[in-house]
Amino acid sequence: MTDGVTGAVSDEALPCLECGYDLRGLDAHGSCPECGELIALSTRGNALRNADPLYLTRAHIAAILLAVTFAVGACVRIERMIGLGLPGLVLIRISTFCELFPLIASVLLASRDATAQRRDWPNRSQIVVALAIVHIAAYLAVVYATVDAGPYRLLSAFALMGWYVAIFSILRDLAERANDLTLKRHNPVVLWSLVGAAALGELLPEVILLLNWGGFVLPTVPLAARHFLLLVADAYAAWLMWRYRAMLAGVTHEARENWGMHSSQQKLDP
Ligand SMILES: [Zn+2]
Repeated sequence: MTDGVTGAVSDEALPCLECGYDLRGLDAHGSCPECGELIALSTRGNALRNADPLYLTRAHIAAILLAVTFAVGACVRIERMIGLGLPGLVLIRISTFCELFPLIASVLLASRDATAQRRDWPNRSQIVVALAIVHIAAYLAVVYATVDAGPYRLLSAFALMGWYVAIFSILRDLAERANDLTLKRHNPVVLWSLVGAAALGELLPEVILLLNWGGFVLPTVPLAARHFLLLVADAYAAWLMWRYRAMLAGVTHEARENWGMHSSQQKLDP
């Protein structure tokens, strides 16, 4: 979109990524006359290899944390189904500790990428962090509640499903900006497997318990089948997050070289 590294922004319309001001014809090394953001940030394009390397490093760490979270989730299901000989308390402590990972990953993924197009409210970043906080608070209430944990379980399951949708929408953007076909193809399938498994395995049994008026119990999905559903969804998601990790590791490397090259060229320019 620019005439090389030096010169003016081309005659085609180019909105400033910060404020949307049309930057055509302006000096590509200058700043936006409307908001003062560097014009170079808008001319780089939306491809992930041009993204801020610091943001990509954060996204890379987030993908590792998410892969561990889903892998631990799958292990918990295997333990529930066949038993791994671990004391129950150890597993609860490990999985409670891992509940922090989605929250940290959300904060990392929601951080600002200096090269991405601005989005108006509702801001997905704020939504994803808020849902992660609600989920972990409700989860802790379930684990440590001395009274009826049912409503907290319901809240925790709802927040988790909302969080899945929000975090996978951010991940889908990364896959699209990287133009990674495997990630783009599997992203929606993993999302709806997780949401479906959570709905059938966690939400539905709680709803049925709540509707248990006068001893009338609706038939529910058998416990072993619920664990199996959640196991498959978690294992699939862990695999996908590991693929995101590999993609982000490669792209971070490319982006570092991109930015390093541009800054050294700029230094050479008078
Ligand atoms: Zn601007």
